[in-house]
Amino acid sequence: YQRIVLASRPKGQVVPENFRLESLSVPELKDGELLVRNHYMSLDPYMRGRMEDAKSYAAPQVIGETMIGGTVGEVVASKNAKFNVGDKVIGMLGWSEMGVSDGLLLRKVDTTHIPLSAYLGAVGMPGLTAWYGLTQIMQPKAGETIVVSAASGAVGSVVGQLGKQMGCRVVGIAGGVDKCAYVVHELGFDACIDYKAGNLEADLAAATPGGIDAVFENVGGEIFDASLAHMNAFGRIALCGLIAGYNGEQLSIKNARIFLTMRLTMRGFIVSEHMDLWPQGLKELGGLVATGKLKFRESVAEGIAAAPEAFIGLLKGKNFGKQLVKLI
Ligand code: NDP
Repeated sequence: YQRIVLASRPKGQVVPENFRLESLSVPELKDGELLVRNHYMSLDPYMRGRMEDAKSYAAPQVIGETMIGGTVGEVVASKNAKFNVGDKVIGMLGWSEMGVSDGLLLRKVDTTHIPLSAYLGAVGMPGLTAWYGLTQIMQPKAGETIVVSAASGAVGSVVGQLGKQMGCRVVGIAGGVDKCAYVVHELGFDACIDYKAGNLEADLAAATPGGIDAVFENVGGEIFDASLAHMNAFGRIALCGLIAGYNGEQLSIKNARIFLTMRLTMRGFIVSEHMDLWPQGLKELGGLVATGKLKFRESVAEGIAAAPEAFIGLLKGKNFGKQLVKLI
């Protein structure tokens, strides 16, 4: 089977040469182990951080080892009493067609009403990220206006739909006409601003006539500054991501004074540090997806060899929805 390892650390932009495709033979299972054939692997912005040898909330990815990542697949051999051949499982088996596990970090999933791939998106880590930032940090009331950047993506799309269900006016920010049309017409946001149209400040002002009560920030830089400029008093900001700076760009906040004048609260968070809330959040998200009340969209690259280009594309906004790699 094939896997992708980190070959070198990027200098600025990620390039295909930072990765290496390798072939391995399937190992003999030891007692307690099981073998999983991965059907999909997840590509996520956080992986850019792990490629860096810098102090962060998580240890760096080791060079020469399988790239870290979430996977969903099927058990194809088992010497572990808790798992049977045919079980569908989610885990962190990395950028790899197969993986051996002791079962400790694997979870069985039910695909009767929820497609397997959704466990990497709306009913997985990205969905939980949206749910956490919205319900635990932004805590919007019905009638309030919320703004979410990277609105068409895995996280942003869930933030906006949950916000609508809470009775909020929801405004998205996304790159391009197609993404914005999808956000409004398919996901049901009240408005979506195309920041690439070159009129971000004025367009956002027009879409938020009553100001902004809470922001879910995924991007940073000019996009974040535009939202800050329209914040209402006692506004809340869930700082989820700063993808505009993941290649080393220095991001600053121009409008720092507004934190004082509008008595704003901003809190950053890392979803994996809140495992106690995952069962509750995943149950809610799973129920919504199973009943068609939470929509999602996927960008699917075919085959493991396509993963590096797809990942580089994700960091440039080429994905449209949750970025996955289909392995089988
Ligand atoms: P998305 O599916 O939203 O894909 C990333 C999107 O970001 C792109 O499609 C693009 O959308 C936008 N983007 C990329 N580069 C830039 C750029 N330079 N400037 C502006 N926009 C850019 O990814 P996710 O939903 O998985 O993640 C969204 C954010 O959430 C990321 O910042 C990620 O790091 C963060 N995150 C944080 C977690 C936490 O625990 N704190 C957990 C999970 C995710 P567009 O074309 O619209 O610009």
